Amino acid sequence: MKKKIMILPGDGIGPEVAQEGRRVLEHVGRHFGHSFEINEGLIGGHSLDTYGEPLTDEVLQQCKDADAVLLGAVGGPKWDQNPGELRPEKALLKLRKELGLFANLRPVEVLAPLATASPLKKEIVADVDLLVVRELTGGLYFGKKEQGQTPGGENWAVDELIYSEHEVERIAHVAFQTARKRRNKVTSVDKANVLESSRLWRATVERVHTEYPDVELEHMLVDNAAMQLIRSPKQFDVVVTENMFGDILSDEASVLAGSIGLMPSASLSASAGLGLYESVHGSAPDIAGQEKANPLATILSVAMLLRHSFDLNPEAQLIEKAVKQVIKDGYRTLDIGQGETVGETQVLGTTDMTDAVISRLDQSITQTEKVK
Ligand code: NAD
Repeated sequence: MKKKIMILPGDGIGPEVAQEGRRVLEHVGRHFGHSFEINEGLIGGHSLDTYGEPLTDEVLQQCKDADAVLLGAVGGPKWDQNPGELRPEKALLKLRKELGLFANLRPVEVLAPLATASPLKKEIVADVDLLVVRELTGGLYFGKKEQGQTPGGENWAVDELIYSEHEVERIAHVAFQTARKRRNKVTSVDKANVLESSRLWRATVERVHTEYPDVELEHMLVDNAAMQLIRSPKQFDVVVTENMFGDILSDEASVLAGSIGLMPSASLSASAGLGLYESVHGSAPDIAGQEKANPLATILSVAMLLRHSFDLNPEAQLIEKAVKQVIKDGYRTLDIGQGETVGETQVLGTTDMTDAVISRLDQSITQTEKVK
């Protein structure tokens, strides 16, 4: 297989974890005979410092020309006082919009040896395996915004929440199709008891569901969903929801896994294959340059890239298996290295952790070859 991948390392720990993701990607490519052409470009603060803008048209075009994009993270205190248009995070919104990334997938899988890393009780989080599918380019964040003043001098502000049927349809298809590859259950989250947009959402999801009679569908109001995610997260398989609810619920769900350094994500577009893959965490300026960053979220994002953009499911599964094995073998980065543990554990730096994953990857590849 021949594919072009654009890597955007970004700021803070972004370049550190992107580098580790690249190593795993290249390793898998070499072993399976895939030709991955990898290019890198500046984004965020580094792009601002060099070109005066968070994402240049050239880099954007390189992303459009690629088959997939892998992102480190952007932002940092150096650029925190910049005006809106000149903030590093602006690059992410531009990328989402220009690449048409309408579906954001955030898996939350609690690895058994890390169940104690979550602030919730072990018996509540152990074995949680859910996926939040968030609509990413509509709703409140992209609606009309206005501020004004009444004749009496009082300030007001308005954000428009608008969804069209086709926007709901396409994200519902993503949710049902993904559920078919998992445990066949979709929970659609809305606020249909109050919001018109949610009533359209619910009716549209139900209509799309008629094409997936083998998948179970339930509806849940967002306030209840926020509670259920903490009380009883094992009930969920695929959770599909609109932009703002998804923003909030996916961050809430990430707490279940114990560390943000373990959380990968994929943002998918309507054009076949093209997707943006990144860890959920930010640029973590507090630990940048110290070999303390957990690379596993980015490595797991590489697995998602191989699965969703290149349809290389066996390769993706091997990476996921290697990550689980490393954790099972007792290796930890600092963020997951504290707290109650069973057996011996060893805290590793960013590069050593990746080395450990690559060595487990090699073991799995050798075993698979022997079975063949
Ligand atoms: P953050 O995710 O960068 O860090 C939050 C905490 O988690 C910090 O204590 C950090 O050390 C820790 N952490 C994060 N990733 C880690 C990893 N891989 N390994 C170990 N520990 C990790 O969030 P923040 O501090 O609120 O934001 C820092 C900057 O990142 C800000 O400029 C923010 O705007 C930006 N940001 C970028 C993205 C993105 O690029 N997608 C997302 C969120 C925040």
